[in-house]
Amino acid sequence: MSRPAETANKSPARPEWAAARRVVVKIGSALLVERETGRLKREWLASLMDDVVELARTGKSVVLVSSGAIALGRNTLKLPKGPLELEQSQAAAAVGQISLAHAYQEMAEKRGLIAAQVLLTLGDTEERRRYLNARNTIETLLSLKAIPVVNENDTVATTEIRYGDNDRLSARVASMVSADCLVLLSDIDGLYTAPPNDNPNAQHIPIVTEITPQIEAMAGDAGTELSKGGMRTKVEAGKIALGAGTNMVITTGKVLNPLRAIAEGAKVTWFLAKSDPVTAKKRWIAGHLEAFGQVFVDAGAERALSSGKSLLPAGVRRVEGDFDRGDAVIIRALDGRELGRGLIAYAYADAIRIIGKKSSEIADILGFEGRDTLIHRDDMALHRK
Ligand code: GLU
Repeated sequence: MSRPAETANKSPARPEWAAARRVVVKIGSALLVERETGRLKREWLASLMDDVVELARTGKSVVLVSSGAIALGRNTLKLPKGPLELEQSQAAAAVGQISLAHAYQEMAEKRGLIAAQVLLTLGDTEERRRYLNARNTIETLLSLKAIPVVNENDTVATTEIRYGDNDRLSARVASMVSADCLVLLSDIDGLYTAPPNDNPNAQHIPIVTEITPQIEAMAGDAGTELSKGGMRTKVEAGKIALGAGTNMVITTGKVLNPLRAIAEGAKVTWFLAKSDPVTAKKRWIAGHLEAFGQVFVDAGAERALSSGKSLLPAGVRRVEGDFDRGDAVIIRALDGRELGRGLIAYAYADAIRIIGKKSSEIADILGFEGRDTLIHRDDMALHRK
């Protein structure tokens, strides 16, 4: 294993790396688990966690998306080599996830960090209500300075409701938490015009700004036994990331301290987004969602919204529609003017009970502690005046 200092073809790191405030790092199974023995590569993981400490020290929040549960568990259970049946993968994940989480916890603790296990299924990132739950949990963990370590909940995920690869899962997580950078640590240092193992003329591509059919064609097909995603799922992750305003880096994790290597200008492929995450999200809210209801706000709330504040229940006079928590609604002034759209934090039945009330009264009225805001400013796209 080479150290980053030996990485060839160095050029200065892109400014996007230093500028990123919130980084999601995807760690592939092949990097974490030894192919032959099925053991965890502890030295490598230790070097990664050293890098995480360094990122945290420079004020970045970090979310890790780690594979490895199935690879670790299949070894412990002595399952045969080769593709596993779904039930076998589920069983392997159940065993391996414990070791994986334990390793992160131990390595984090040694470095004064707190690791938090988050297991997600496809529905947690696709369904709006569950999406909000998962997002709130990760946001809370980050605000408490914990490092979420995310994986797919492979033990309960069946074929139809499964990502199957952590490339796309990590892109969804990055978009969910509006990360400004997603790093895919891979066994290859970026995207090539053709799979470099089969084609000696393959050229490395340093920057991608749009996922064109040519780029997709370059991705070829899937990877090794240990890594579920090949270049194809990485390019798909790139689509999700760019759509969410998140920059993405594909780089090799086959060195120690792979994140420090990025800062030191290692060879990578950058997928550069055209807008930032907040703008991308607002555009998505403004343009692509069907509205399930409307909220009518008073003049005070209208002023607060236009000065960039969230919508509190106190400023709302009336709600209409049949919406669930997380659905898009139209925000209107009392005279009916459409002010914008947003994702509402309460279902209709709860919203009608708290409108006009102070946020501090919400818990008493509803019997549970909900959000202070009816529509958070980050979940809102206002029309320009
Ligand atoms: N979630 C799987 C695991 O932890 C890995 C999926 C992937 O390799 O992308 O074993």
